[in-house]
Amino acid sequence: MILQVDPHAGYREDKALVDAAVLRVLDSGQYIMGQEVEAFEAEFAAYIGVRHGIAVANGTQAVEIALRSVGVGSGDLVLTVSHTAVATVTAIRSCGAEPVWVDVAEGGFTMDVGLLDETAATLRAGPDSSRLKAVVAVHLYGAMVPPEALLEVCRRHGLKLVEDCAQAHGAAWNGKRAGSFGDASAFSFYPTKNLGALGDGGMVCTGDDGAAEQARLIRQYGWKERYVSAIEGINSRLDPVQAAILRIGLTRLDERNARRRAIAALYDEELAGTAVATPAVAVELLHAYHQYVVRTAGRDGLAARLRAEGVGSGIHYPVPVHAQPAYRGGFDRHCRTLRNTEALAGEILSLPMYPQLAHDNVRRVAGLIRQFQGS
Ligand SMILES: *Cc1c(COP(=O)(O)O)cnc(C)c1O
Repeated sequence: MILQVDPHAGYREDKALVDAAVLRVLDSGQYIMGQEVEAFEAEFAAYIGVRHGIAVANGTQAVEIALRSVGVGSGDLVLTVSHTAVATVTAIRSCGAEPVWVDVAEGGFTMDVGLLDETAATLRAGPDSSRLKAVVAVHLYGAMVPPEALLEVCRRHGLKLVEDCAQAHGAAWNGKRAGSFGDASAFSFYPTKNLGALGDGGMVCTGDDGAAEQARLIRQYGWKERYVSAIEGINSRLDPVQAAILRIGLTRLDERNARRRAIAALYDEELAGTAVATPAVAVELLHAYHQYVVRTAGRDGLAARLRAEGVGSGIHYPVPVHAQPAYRGGFDRHCRTLRNTEALAGEILSLPMYPQLAHDNVRRVAGLIRQFQGS
């Protein structure tokens, strides 16, 4: 059996260190927030290259708190993609804001910045201009929305930029890390992410002192002092057991991302010239390969064949958010077309990808794909 993802393999690599760190926290008597969490916040913010890290309970609330900390609230319009984890949109809705869909770029998986520009211009010229507040750019699969073009469009239209980096820990553009471009950014430490906890966790990053202060308040009931809510907040704390585990993971992140890139290079090589399209990568991008996603017209047949051969695969994601029952009809503002988004859902396949995946298994998966395409 070749798994599509395997967080247990990561734990096994670090078992002695992780077990000792967990016991150290259990013995410390501090079970919520505290020194361990503060140390991780500082280390993670330094790694991303921003002034502030605010640890939270999960990635969904990291996106929500990032949005609220840059001023997004009830009734506001937030531009984002429909080709994303539903969590991105859950977070926008938790702020009371409304998503406006922008298509993904032709031949890629992330937001079409030209269409973002066009959609923002149309909304700015209309009656809802004052509601238009922000963009959530999703750096999907470990690739990035081209940040320079994105920032230029956001500045020109007066939009706050929140980066959803839940799949992009350690990705970089011309050497500058994902999560350091926007007004605020959000990370998830769900176990299968490039930096994963052994439970839930998340982080808001920002270079802005005011946004950082807001995020800290929102994370814990809006408390500036204990028992007195200065603003309305939520409860979204990280626990020190997860923080201690994540501090170990952070020291491994670059090396593990390099292993992901080596696996991707091997897939690229082994699948060249076949009918499956391998991911295109911009020269400026240091890809984090959270997922290795190919496109093929015969996706369902290929996935079934892989499954029959004991190879796991995934579809991220089978139904675009705008087409899901909870969101269908309710939020129908979008750019000219969602053609690329709709085409992707039927053609994408995420192949096995995790740092501990053996190269022989990568060759075996690629061989099965070549065989299937030839038959
Ligand atoms: C995983 C993920 C999230 C949410 O993270 P959780 O920790 O599961 O809440 C948000 N956005 C994207 C793009 C994700 O992949």
